[in-house]
This record gives sequence, C-alpha cells and structure tokens, in this order.
Amino acid sequence: MNKSFIILLLLFTSLSSQAQNQAHKKVLKLMGSRFEITAVSDDEALAWESINACIEEVTRIEKVISSWDENSQTSKINRDAGIAPVVVDKELFDLIARAKKISDLTNGAFDISYASVDKIWKFDGSVKDLPTAEEVAQSVSKINYQNIILNYDDHSVFLKEAGMKIGFGAIGKGYAANRGREIMRSMGIKSGIVNASGDLLTWGKEADGSDWTIGIADPKNKTHVLGWLNVGEMAVVTSGNYEKFIDINGKRYSHIIDPRTGYPVQGLKSVTIICPNAELSDALATSVFVLGKEKGLALINQLKGIECFLVDDHDELSYSNNLKLNYYKNNTVAEQDTTLYNVGHEKN
Ligand code: ADP
Ligand code: MG
Repeated sequence: MNKSFIILLLLFTSLSSQAQNQAHKKVLKLMGSRFEITAVSDDEALAWESINACIEEVTRIEKVISSWDENSQTSKINRDAGIAPVVVDKELFDLIARAKKISDLTNGAFDISYASVDKIWKFDGSVKDLPTAEEVAQSVSKINYQNIILNYDDHSVFLKEAGMKIGFGAIGKGYAANRGREIMRSMGIKSGIVNASGDLLTWGKEADGSDWTIGIADPKNKTHVLGWLNVGEMAVVTSGNYEKFIDINGKRYSHIIDPRTGYPVQGLKSVTIICPNAELSDALATSVFVLGKEKGLALINQLKGIECFLVDDHDELSYSNNLKLNYYKNNTVAEQDTTLYNVGHEKN
C-alpha cells in the first residue's frame, strides 16, 4: 500500500466520522426530577451547547413557575390570594390561561388551584394520618379554576379567595420539555429527546436514521415494558401512582387530587398520553387520572391526534380507539436493545 493511499484512507475515515450523526446525552436533576436530554448531531460541540441551553431554559422556567421558591412570580400570586391582582410576565400569564382552557375541556378535572390542598396532602412522607373530613372540606372549598381571574389588559392574575393557591405540578414539566426542544431546534439540532422523568418529547430520528422506539413501563414492575411504539415527533407522557404516593393504614393515596372531593384519586395505576405537544399531554394524563377509565377514554376519543392508554388498579389495560402498541414476546427491558427509552416515572 503506498503512503498517499493510506493518508487518503485516513482522511476519508476522519471525514466520514466527522459527518456521522451521534446521540449525545446528559442526565441531571432539574425541577426536582430526573431529566435526560439527548441531542443527535454530527457536530458534538453544538450538541453539548444545545443541551446546556436546554438546561438553562428549564432552570429559568422553574424560577418562574415554582410554588416553593418564595421569590417566584407564582409564589407572589399565591401570597396575594384574596388580596390583590399580581402583574406577571406574559409567559406565566399565557401558561395559566392555557391551564384554564384545559380545566374547561376536562370539566374541572384538571385544576391548577388543586394546590390549596397541598398543606393536608404532603407526599414527602410527613403525613402519617388521614386528614380529617373538616380539613379536607376546608381546603377543597378553595379549589375553583373559575376564581383564577385573568386580566388580559395588564397581564395580572388574581386568586379571588383568600387561601387559594395554584401549582404547576401537572403541566410544568411538559411546558419545560416543549420549550427545551424549541431552544435546541432553533440552534440547529434536528433530532433529539427531552425526557422530563416520564414526560418524554422526541423529534427527528435516531442517529442511525430510524424512528425513536419508546417503551411503556409496566406499573407493576418497572424493569418490564408493556409494549413499545415508534415515533418521530411526539410527546409520550405517563402519569403514575407508583412513584409518588403515601401509604396510610395500608391504603395507597396517589398525588393526583380530585378537585371535586379534595381526596387523592383512586382506580388507575398509570395513564399515558401520546400527542405532539408535551404540555398538553402532561395536563391530559393528570386529567384522565381524575376522570377515571370510562370518562377519561371518552374524552380522549373525542380529541383528534391524541391517544391514550391506561392501566387500572386490577392491572387491566385500556386503549383509546386509534392506538396501536407493539409488543415483545419477552417484556424484559434488559433483553431489548439499548435504543429503548423507558417512559415510566423514575425516582430521583
Ligand atoms: P408527575 O409529576 O408524576 O409527572 P403528573 O403530571 O400527573 O405527575 O402531575 C401530578 C401533580 O400535579 C401532583 O403532584 C400535583 O402537584 C398536581 N396535581 C394534582 N392533582 C391535580 C389536578 N387535579 N389538577 C392539576 N394538577 C394537579
Ligand atoms: Mg401531568
């Protein structure tokens, strides 16, 4: 082999490896949850730059919507409940307006003012006894999305009654995932995944040019998947009661609250929503949990381009009309290829 041929060969391999798409992935804790951010690109520097920009964006959003951070605009709205309207950034105003639309759509099953009960239902292990019926009645009387008054002229938000409180636990991660993808895309990343601990948003293709393979976790056993689907640009969002819950007197209470009763909902183990928008998927997964199997599926079947499947307390699976999941013969994750992205919730 002569020397110039070898150099040419080396040049060729380095050129071709440069042009090769690769997945770059970072796992970290954001918004109190485990985030996995993946950028597929032939430009490694750009991929990491975009992942960092996504992290910055999610961190920025958390500062706006967090109800734990005393300095957030959301905390200010909550502090001034029953006192005065609070002028907020258009971003937060618009998010609240969209949340109210989902409340309308779901007949109040989804309600960001659920948060007035978060003093009596804490899912950090501090609640050992059931709250009394009076305590629940007190808190639930404050839940009503129609009392979140939006003024479109000055972008102010007013919680009409003292003791009201809003929280974005059921929509914030989906919104953040949408924004993260937008930022990465605007930087030229044509494919990737933002996985906000079970709120998963994909776009483009895998590095090898195939569609993304998304595994759906089995609520009974997280190392198993129920099935999988291939997607291009899609959000696949799962709400489950198998990660965040409290056990009191041998009974499991989930972190999703029925706004009509003030009690945690019963009946379902997990709900997965599939549609192109992560924020909407996030909110609808929580909504279907509250609505229950029949009413929840009936709602999803009315909505074009949105699919759903759920697992009830008896481990029975139900699907919306147009959903087709694929199945493996043996559902063990370890035996499947590494391109599988597990949608189930993960503990931090
Ligand atoms: P996860 O945080 O596990 O992804 P969800 O997206 O289903 O779960 O959101 C559940 C969270 O939403 C709860 O922890 C709480 O913060 C909030 N939430 C509970 N009940 C409701 C409700 N009826 N409407 C809106 N938000 C709710
Ligand atoms: Mg949700």
